[in-house]
Amino acid sequence: MNYPHGRCRNCGHRLYERLEGNYRCPNCETDYSRDVLDEPSQ
Ligand SMILES: [Zn+2]
Repeated sequence: MNYPHGRCRNCGHRLYERLEGNYRCPNCETDYSRDVLDEPSQ
């Protein structure tokens, strides 16, 4: 895991990038694809 990116939509925890290029919430173990998280942050 590298740097946190975005927030988990289930629990609000920070997501961490994985080697596969996806993101994972270490709290509730939800995986997110990079495309899903490709949203403008405000
Ligand atoms: Zn979570």
